[in-house]
Amino acid sequence: MRELRSQLPKIDTILKEKIFKNHHRDLLKKITQDYIQTLRQTIINYDQIPSYEDILQKISKIYKQTLSPSLYPIINATGVIAQTNLGRSVFSPKLLEEILPLLSEYNNLEYDIQKGTRGERYKHIKNLVCALFECEDVLVVNNNASAVLLIINTFAKNKEVIISRGELIEIGGSFRIPEVIVCAGGILKEVGSTNKTHLKDYKNAITHESALILKAHKSNFKQIGFTQEVSLEELILLAQENNLIDYYDVGSGYITGIPNICEPSLIEIAKHNPSLVSFSGDKLLGGPQAGIIFGKKDLIAKLKENHLLRALRVDKFTIFALQATFRAYLENKFDDIPTIAMLNQSLETLFQKAQDLLNLIEKIPYLKCEVINLFSKAGGGSLPDKEFPSWGVSISHSRLKAQILGDKIRQKGLIGRIQNEQILLDMRCIQAHHLAQIYRIFIEIGN
Ligand SMILES: *Cc1c(COP(=O)(O)O)cnc(C)c1O
Repeated sequence: MRELRSQLPKIDTILKEKIFKNHHRDLLKKITQDYIQTLRQTIINYDQIPSYEDILQKISKIYKQTLSPSLYPIINATGVIAQTNLGRSVFSPKLLEEILPLLSEYNNLEYDIQKGTRGERYKHIKNLVCALFECEDVLVVNNNASAVLLIINTFAKNKEVIISRGELIEIGGSFRIPEVIVCAGGILKEVGSTNKTHLKDYKNAITHESALILKAHKSNFKQIGFTQEVSLEELILLAQENNLIDYYDVGSGYITGIPNICEPSLIEIAKHNPSLVSFSGDKLLGGPQAGIIFGKKDLIAKLKENHLLRALRVDKFTIFALQATFRAYLENKFDDIPTIAMLNQSLETLFQKAQDLLNLIEKIPYLKCEVINLFSKAGGGSLPDKEFPSWGVSISHSRLKAQILGDKIRQKGLIGRIQNEQILLDMRCIQAHHLAQIYRIFIEIGN
């Protein structure tokens, strides 16, 4: 065995090869060492030792792979619009056109041009959000989880946060409301039961140690049957009567432009004049990752004084993109917000896209395709019971099982669903320019 290993080339010899002349020394050395080490551990006879040339080629390939970008576009044919694993919300080319020039120049993010003094980055969002929600003030943080953390830490450190047992939710990526409350320094005071919480449960829980009544949107699940929860209005009133802060973590939230949904919009929520509300920027809002907090001016001022804010502060990109997103809402330009545009597509448009895709790929002899009815989902942990009727194409391959075909198209950047031994491509998040790409992917797979 030792003899066998001595057949492997020396690391130093490889590093001196001409083809590696312009390679980064340390990276090349690390890759070469790792590769030779793997060979050492895996070869068991002479036949398995690759030629010197093959070894060089392999190292060169690994080196290139290491330096190539690891992010690429994906075609989302799952029918789930705010797909967290696929980057949640996408931006419109128009929005990017607007903000890209800002990113390569200095700008007045925190500068008051009139006075020549330091300005505040949140002011670029404030007027728009205050106009939309008729609220007093606004703050933006890194995401909605940050909003929960900042609010609890500012107002309920070592004090009680009263919350219904029916709202101790967990959303994807192991975000759990009870854990975040504790992380933020708050004391969790659960009230009611899993399925029923009454106003008196909240009332009876209030003590001198209480600071805040938290209502959390159930987001990714629904309770049916023998259930009861206390309305936001009642909680706001109760908080006011007891000098507490009411805070509603709405999770996704939406402004307008979503057909047939039976929960209140952020605008309707704001009408109750809550102390604090927070929601995500990249769920149904369709903007960048952010946590948007709105509510009473004095409370927002306190949040700004918390040193944690510095750690949760948003970048200029977020401010630019949020401003453009909120402006689109105020101007009713929903086509500039792809999340909303995708939700609002008519069944005729979806059917036509499915038919266009079918016309392209049914010519591929080893595929069997059909236009079919499907249901899309909002995603991002919102509207869990809501299905949006859609159209798509079902595909089966003459030889490959659906699972294998699914793996192959996924590795080429097309993600669909698998059902009844077929690949289902939902047209909801597929744009016209994707059709030719999908055709090419199935051609590349071959028969
Ligand atoms: C999604 C969600 C969060 C976390 O929001 P992110 O923007 O993903 O950090 C917090 N609370 C609720 C109720 C949610 O639905």
